[in-house]
Parts: sequence; C-alpha cells; structure tokens
Amino acid sequence: DAVAVVFDYASLTYRVLNERANRLAHHLVRLGVGPEVRVGLCLERSLEMVVSLLAVLKAGGAYVPLDPGLPAERLAYMLDGSAVPLVLVQAAQRGAVPAREGVEVLAVDELAERLAAESAENPKSGARPESLAYVIYTSGSTGRPKGVMNAHRGVVNRLVWMQAQFGLRTDDVVLQKTPFSFDVSVWEFFWPLQQGARLVMARPDGHRDPRYLQEVIEQRGVTTLHFVPSMLQPFVEAVEAGRCASLRHVVCSGEALPPALVRRFYDRFAGPVALTNLYGPTEAAVDVSWWSCAREDAGDVVPIGRPVWNTALYVLDAALQPVPIGTPGELYIGGVQVARGYLGRAAMTAERFVPDPFSTEGGARLYRTGDRARWRPDGAVEYLRRLDFQVKIRGFRIELGEIEAALRQAPGVRDCTVVAREEETGDRRLVAYVVGAVEAEALRDRLRRTLPEYMVPSAFVALDALPLTPSGKLDRKALPAPEGDAYARRSYEAPLGEVETALAEIWAEVLGAGRVGRRDHFFELGGHSLLAIKLIERMRRRGLHTDVRALFTTPVLAELALVVGGESTELEVPANAIPEGCASITPEMLPLVELSQSEIDRVVAGVPGGAANVQDIYPLAPLQEGILFHHLLSQEGDPYLLSSVAEFDTRARLEQYLAALQAVIDRHDILRTSMAWEGLREPVQVVWRHAPLPVEEVELDAAAGDAAEELWARYDPRQYRIDLGRAPLLRACIAEDDGRGRWLLLML
Ligand code: AMP
Repeated sequence: DAVAVVFDYASLTYRVLNERANRLAHHLVRLGVGPEVRVGLCLERSLEMVVSLLAVLKAGGAYVPLDPGLPAERLAYMLDGSAVPLVLVQAAQRGAVPAREGVEVLAVDELAERLAAESAENPKSGARPESLAYVIYTSGSTGRPKGVMNAHRGVVNRLVWMQAQFGLRTDDVVLQKTPFSFDVSVWEFFWPLQQGARLVMARPDGHRDPRYLQEVIEQRGVTTLHFVPSMLQPFVEAVEAGRCASLRHVVCSGEALPPALVRRFYDRFAGPVALTNLYGPTEAAVDVSWWSCAREDAGDVVPIGRPVWNTALYVLDAALQPVPIGTPGELYIGGVQVARGYLGRAAMTAERFVPDPFSTEGGARLYRTGDRARWRPDGAVEYLRRLDFQVKIRGFRIELGEIEAALRQAPGVRDCTVVAREEETGDRRLVAYVVGAVEAEALRDRLRRTLPEYMVPSAFVALDALPLTPSGKLDRKALPAPEGDAYARRSYEAPLGEVETALAEIWAEVLGAGRVGRRDHFFELGGHSLLAIKLIERMRRRGLHTDVRALFTTPVLAELALVVGGESTELEVPANAIPEGCASITPEMLPLVELSQSEIDRVVAGVPGGAANVQDIYPLAPLQEGILFHHLLSQEGDPYLLSSVAEFDTRARLEQYLAALQAVIDRHDILRTSMAWEGLREPVQVVWRHAPLPVEEVELDAAAGDAAEELWARYDPRQYRIDLGRAPLLRACIAEDDGRGRWLLLML
C-alpha cells in the first residue's frame, strides 16, 4: 500500500500499479506479446507510461520507446525497423503514430472495460536473462537512427549493482525526468520500483526547467535525480539550495563532467548530498563505470572511474592490444551488460561488437565505444574525447554524419558538412555549411521533417566551396563562424507594445542576435534549452513571468508576449511582502491598495496577533468581489459554501488528517487569506502568516439515529454563514459516532 508512483496530483500504490500492469500484461499476452516480441510505446510522461512499461515486460516482451514529439517520418522509420505488431498510446497521442499496415494502435486509457475482465495476478512472462528487454534508438552515422537491443541480464546486473552501491531506501524519492527514449530513464523507472521507493514523474517538458525542478524537489521531497552535466550547470546556478534540502544523491552521466562544476556543486549544496559520475553507452545497459565525486579530489579531470559488476573495461590499440597505464587508446567494454547488437543491422553490429579476445566464455563480445581513454595508476579510467564525429549537445547523442546525410538529400545541396561549434559561453551549437543554391529556411523545414529538434542545426552558412587542406581533406578549422544572418530569420516586423519591445531586447541580448522582430522564432534564432533558461531568468528580472515550457509551446515572440504574465506563478512570499514581525504597516508598504493609515490600522486590528501576523494586504480579484457581493446579499447561508463529511476509524487518524490539512494551509498563502471590507473604501484580502484551522467538537445526540445526517443538519450550508474575516475560510467540526465506533469530520 505504499505509494509507488506520483504524477502531478495522482498517484498509484504498489498494489494498484501492479494490478493495473498485470491486467494490461495479460491483455498483451492475449494479443500475442511474449519473449522477443517488441511493443512500441508512444506516450508522454504519465502514470500510463509506467503501467505500460511494466506491462510489456511482464508480458515477456520488449519495449520500444517512441517519443511522440519526433517527426512522423522518423517514427515511421522506427516502426518499420523495429517491426512492432502493436503500439500502445494515450488516446491524445494516437495522431502522432503514423499508420502502418499490420501495426495495431491501442490507447491504454481507453481499455478500462476490456482490462476489467483480465486477471490482476502476476503473469508468467517466460522471459529469460538473454531475452530482449528494450530497443532504444540512437543517432546513426550512415543517415538513419539505429536501434540498440538490450537484454534483461545486462539491465538487471546494472540495477542490482546500483542498489548494492548506493542503497536506495523505501523512503527515497526518485525523480523521473529523462525522456524514456534515452536509456538513463531505465534506472530512473526501475531502480525505485524494484526497491519499494517512490517514483515521481516530472511533468512532460519539466526536465528542462530548473525552477520547476526545484519546485518538485521541494514539494515531493525528491532525494535522488539525474542530470547531464550541461543541464546540471544551470540547475546549480538557478536554484535556491535551501529549497532542495531533501536531495541526497545527484547522478551525472552522458558527457564529461567538468571539475569546476563538481566544485560549484559542493559549494552550493552543503550537507549530506553526493555527486556521482557514471559513464556508459546505450550499447551496454546504460552505464558501465562509476566515480564518486569528492569535492577535494576534483583536480583537472573527473575520471569515469571503475567498472561496475560483471563488466570489464579495456583500453586497446588498433591491434586490440592493451596499452600501458597512462597511454591513450580506444575504450572497449566487455561483460554481461554488452548489448545484443543493432536491430536489423548485422554489418554494423559486427563492426562495433567484436569477439572478446580476453574472455574464456564462448561467444563473448566487446563493444567498441569510439571513446578515447586512458587508465590512471589508481585503477580509474579517464575519458579523453571522441574518436569519430559523434557529438553530445546538451546531453543528446548526435552523429554529425546523420545530419549531413539528411542535408545531402535536399534538392540543390551540392556539398555540406555539419560541426558542433563551441560558443563563447562554453555552450555548443550545430552549424551546417552548405554548398549550393538553397535557402536556410527551406533546409531547416526539411530537416525538421526527419530529424528530432535537437539535431536540426541552429545556423546554416552558405559557402561557394568547402575549405580543403593541401592534402584535399575537409579543413574544419577553416570553416567560418556563422554570422547573424546564418540564423534563419522571418521577415522583420517591429515589436508592438511594451511587452514585445522588452522581449525583443532581451532576446537580442540572450541570443546575440541583433535586431529581433515580433515574428521571430526563439529556436530558429539559435535558441535552445540552456538559452531558454537564461532567457526566463532575464525576463523574470524585468517583471515578465513565464516558464520554460511556455517558450517551447509559444516560441514566436508576439505569441510569447501574450502568455507572459506580470505576476509570478510561484508559491513564494513575494519580495515586496511585509517583513515578518513588523510592528506597524504603512500605506507605502502596500503599493497595490489605496487605503489610508487609519483604514490599514482597522484591517490589522481585525487579525489576531496584529501587524506581526499580517503578511500582505491587496485588492480582491473581480471573481472574489463577486463572491463577497453574494455573501453580503444573502441573509442566511452562503451561496459559495461547500460542505463534506468524512469518516475515520480512529480519532488518531482524524487528528493526522487535520494536521496534514494544517500543513497545506501553512504552505499556501491563499488558504491563509481573509477578507476585510467594513469601514474601507475598497475591500481587500489579507494574508495571515499563521491561520490555525478552527476545530469544533460536537456532541451528537446518541438517540437521534444517523450521526452523519445529524451533523449535516446542524451545519446546513443553507443557513450556516462563514466568517469571511477569519482565515482560513474553512471550519472543521468533529463528532464521535458512538453507535458505530467511528469519527466524523464535517468540513465547511
Ligand atoms: P549514450 O549512448 O547517449 O549514453 O552516449 C554514450 C557516449 O556518451 C559515450 O560513448 C561517451 O562518448 C559519452 N559519455 C557518456 N557518459 C560520459 C561521461 N561520464 N563522461 C564522458 N563522456 C561520457
């Protein structure tokens, strides 16, 4: 009955999650799912996502994550390549799945009736250690993404090792924020669920917004979460460490972890929080090596550390001979976590997964990582750089060759190359250099149809010819830096009004983009998620409040201006609130209301504790004015009063419930707000710092029959009037139901 998974305001206990996954699994078995059968999942982060992942595995099958945000062409390629007979979706995502002959699309949120008839017992999956667990697609250098096939035994080894190493407890809370099409999500999902801990699903898009992350960490008491280093950086800078007091363990992987970031991390987060650097490719069950980062030893390089259980790391030369300690070579991975290979790509599999010359086990293979590395004398490995044209941009693994292949198919492109250019900010952007008569905008639109957003270059530079070295090879160093016009511009329209003008100024500054118009598109001007975070911060400072998600849904300046609010949506005491413990409140402290000192004194006198207990005074919203009007108009009862009765088996549980309710009241300003109007020129709302919930004990007449009925009758909302001058605007009445030995709570 412990909570297994939380999403927004909904949660599932272990029992319910298991039963729901079992019913779906039985249904999948009926549809033919079993070992080696692949099932596509095209879902947004949600409870259904967790149920579906478990159900596919419980049915013995393997899941293929299909991110609903990918272009249809790419999804179609993945559907064909993975030969899934079935795709599970949420009804809302149905449209994202391209129609394919022989592929059934099932909306898991529309199956309730069919699933009710299925057994809730654990199915027998029939899966073996070597059975396929999932296929995750990653960028392919030859122009098409490739599906990596991972088996159960590798994943299980990885999870069991992680538990032995870091000991997740049942009171731990793990945040799931990595999109499920990236393998970090595998441990985010299954580690907490294997250990009886709590899995908290970040809202879709939430992973990009440090403010949102801070909020979930604080509200949900998150203890464990993952970042790619380039996202850890803005998080460390943006959050108030004090609000992340629950954090115990931050795990990094995916890119080299800069030592300066380790130091900054420990400077910001004092207290018992650990930072771990994990390393590994999708081709070897998520991670194969680990390093515990201590503040003291963050020297010049943070090593990727030592191998996990049942895993061997080798640094080899071109003849597959081990090189001496300290000498760079290519990193190879051996052991149980090595994947089965690339789905339907035998040649590519043979090239990257080679026979393991160091193993005595028949058929053992090494995965060739393409990473240059070296051993340190202390037995840890240092990552040096890539040996090929695979790059990481904000944690996303990208083969530049795949983007080039897509560009070459565009009509008019005679030659091209794509590079990841380091910006002055230390940040990287993709720049395409194109020879031929083609418009940047047309190229961008074309690439968008086949590539994920993070693979579409930010800038397109037209060249007469690609620069060559004397030996005739591409001279990357001679490629010019992109100028302002390389970022495709919409035709210029001057910003209108104050908000648009302010936004245009901030965009120009953050993007380094010169003149910005109202039709300009943040991401087409070279914006990306890190710059988005910077932009939101700058906007906040100028009183323009929004969140990163809004920028992703409304990236055009004029549209963003419409959703930008003048007020913070966060639940924090506003900076201009009356200082705590203030003895007197003056009109200057209340810029929003037009009250005289004597009126303010009157308001303050109505609050128990006086000025020291007043957090803020401000005008009513129009809707609240309406509520007040109807309250004053009616003589009896209150048209807006709601009441409900709840039943508890013991007095102690009732008390616990009231204590929890009080905690909610303490947390939310609006629940500690009363109204004042008498003797004032304008009605106001008053936020109290402390507003204890009034609890009244009621003696029921034992002989009167139904106790709940009697309680209802005493506090009939048709007659009862609530005192709007007293926060919280809630009343609790409790009574013992003698006849049934239970406790009743009436809330008004
Ligand atoms: P992916 O398959 O997305 O996990 O990408 C794997 C590649 O990311 C590796 O081959 C490395 O190039 C890089 N990588 C992953 N983790 C680290 C790390 N901790 N330090 C440096 N590079 C890393």
